[in-house]
Amino acid sequence: FLRPIEKINVLLEMYPKGMAGFRRLCSLLDTEPDVKDSPDAVEVRNLKGNIAFRSVTFGYENHAHVLKNINLHIRAGETLALVGPSGAGKSTLCSLIPRFYEIDEGEITIDGIDIRRMTQHSLRNQIGIVQQDVFLFNGTIRENIAYGKLDATEEQIWEAARQAHLEPMLQALPDGLDTLIGQRGLKLSGGQRQRLSIARIFLKNPPILILDEATSALDTETELAIQQALERLSRNRTTLIIAHRLATIRHADRIVVVTEEGIAEEGSHEALLASGGVYARLSAAQFGTALVP
Ligand code: ATP
Repeated sequence: FLRPIEKINVLLEMYPKGMAGFRRLCSLLDTEPDVKDSPDAVEVRNLKGNIAFRSVTFGYENHAHVLKNINLHIRAGETLALVGPSGAGKSTLCSLIPRFYEIDEGEITIDGIDIRRMTQHSLRNQIGIVQQDVFLFNGTIRENIAYGKLDATEEQIWEAARQAHLEPMLQALPDGLDTLIGQRGLKLSGGQRQRLSIARIFLKNPPILILDEATSALDTETELAIQQALERLSRNRTTLIIAHRLATIRHADRIVVVTEEGIAEEGSHEALLASGGVYARLSAAQFGTALVP
């Protein structure tokens, strides 16, 4: 009886902080029933993470197309940053990979298999998503980390916490991993919440990672710790970064500039600056012209 009330409490607590996330969640809940497993859908495991968009066109229901005829190949293990003006469709493009929405035309394949032929559950198990709004529930830190892998051992949970730079915080807490968080427990800061979500993904260990970069200002120390944890997390995984601040993505293997017209340009940070196109202009706007050769 108490559980549903606790859940409502959590929602109420999250409400003012996370209206944007809440709206996104509602829109997901609205649209998700449209995405169904095909009768012959297969379970996928141990994908390498070779992702290909072929002539992909997509628009939200009753809206004009957001993405038109997108062709993009992301090699297994590659780190690809998506940049571009707000509303160009970066988040939308990423949300098509876990198949949160059904595309209108074209195909998206992972390791050569059309994602529509995969069960959604097994597809989403292969993908880790780090977002600004972290979903945490009332429970211990241990339970919250192990959320993505319920059979995790103590050592695996500690290792994930270490990788996510959570260890100093855990050592400072008398109950360590058993500390209660949420409504009736410890309130975590934005940076701590984010590191906890990173620990979750270390534990889940998916071959594909989607990072929706935080725009909110964290203090420099936290920022650095999170940046390092994310860099470790993206190693040996196919990583898509939705970048809002260009400073953090200079080391991406490739940068793709998305505009309302589609993919405008792609290349390394240096090559894009030198070409003097959209990226160079965005860069100049963020850093001042000093960084543009
Ligand atoms: P930002 O940098 O601001 O996050 P973005 O490049 O990630 O922007 P998207 O969030 O993918 O852009 O949005 C692309 C377009 O799709 C926008 O016009 C947006 O208003 C619209 N859009 C996004 N989500 C939905 C939705 N659930 N329903 C209808 N339209 C949506």
